[in-house]
Amino acid sequence: MSKIHNFSAGPSILPKEAIQACVEGIQNFAGTGLSLLEVSHRGKEFVKVVEDTQAIIKELMDIPEGYEILFLGGGASMQFITVAYNLLENKGAYLKTGVWAANAAKEAKHFGTVEIIASSEDRNYCYIPKNYTIPTDADYFHCTSNNTIYGSQMQSFPDSPVTMVCDMSSDILSRKVDVSKFGLIYAGAQKNMGPAGVTVVIVRKDILGKVSRQIPSMMDYAVHIKSESMFNTPPVFPIYAMLQNLKWVKQQGGVEGMQKRAKARAELLYSEIDNNPLFKGTVDKEDRSQMNVCFLLTDDSLTDKFNAAWKAAGISGIVGHRSVGGYRASMYNALPLESVEALVNVMKTFNS
Ligand SMILES: *Cc1c(COP(=O)(O)O)cnc(C)c1O
Repeated sequence: MSKIHNFSAGPSILPKEAIQACVEGIQNFAGTGLSLLEVSHRGKEFVKVVEDTQAIIKELMDIPEGYEILFLGGGASMQFITVAYNLLENKGAYLKTGVWAANAAKEAKHFGTVEIIASSEDRNYCYIPKNYTIPTDADYFHCTSNNTIYGSQMQSFPDSPVTMVCDMSSDILSRKVDVSKFGLIYAGAQKNMGPAGVTVVIVRKDILGKVSRQIPSMMDYAVHIKSESMFNTPPVFPIYAMLQNLKWVKQQGGVEGMQKRAKARAELLYSEIDNNPLFKGTVDKEDRSQMNVCFLLTDDSLTDKFNAAWKAAGISGIVGHRSVGGYRASMYNALPLESVEALVNVMKTFNS
């Protein structure tokens, strides 16, 4: 089988080394002679997997003291609810930069007032709003670091006067971030960290315990912290697979290594989009995402020809989200530059 270039938006590409390690763990987990899929999550071998995964995330992201790392089910979408459940007493301030940000704000409304402090909906989310003011009477400010569907990315984070909460699902570990600026970071694993099924929550303990409502145990960060992310059966296999991927990230130079790879991929593809008259980008240049690159053909009549050419080159997963159309190349941590070169080569040659 010839090489497949996997640009899937999520679940998405994992390094073959991580997949191989998963195969081994499924067959014989940590020398137990049993499959990872059939042992207790409270056995010492799996407890070590959880501890090792927390330790490697702490190291890779340079997480300061005072933060806890949780591995929860329910996807990033569950965190839209859990964040507000735990933090929203009076008002949450939301930056509306796309569908995920809008969904987060919508769920928070179940718990109190939601103020959209800025939105880029007026131009179909093709930019990141600037010059907004975060109200000091909000319980927290919520933002989405990378707009997976529309392909825009926050290039920097504001100095928030209130607790900053960030959905980093689609760019976590792809660039250096000062974790101390945030009270809470969450990320569904299936884009940059591992397979679907686990969501990483990095939470500073001192922001918790301030709302007056009763929180059901499964929704309460404090309960999960107290039981070391083992309140109920955690997503055992996704955590194990994530650890294998994070070991690979570390071997590749950690976040700095991922940042270099992301920059090289993005420069190559955006430069082709900007220099090839057959294509155009959909996002304001200064806000372009290094992870999800959205683009259109300038001449729709070439659609069939272009589609046939990238399919023939083994390229997979670049059809745009239904709300944007065109193409979206998702270039998460594990994607090699070689795959972007293959796509650029098709873009250069398909109409000649
Ligand atoms: C994919 C994605 C989500 C949704 O994640 P689920 O795990 O499917 O709930 C939320 N936010 C962002 C930024 C995403 O990219």
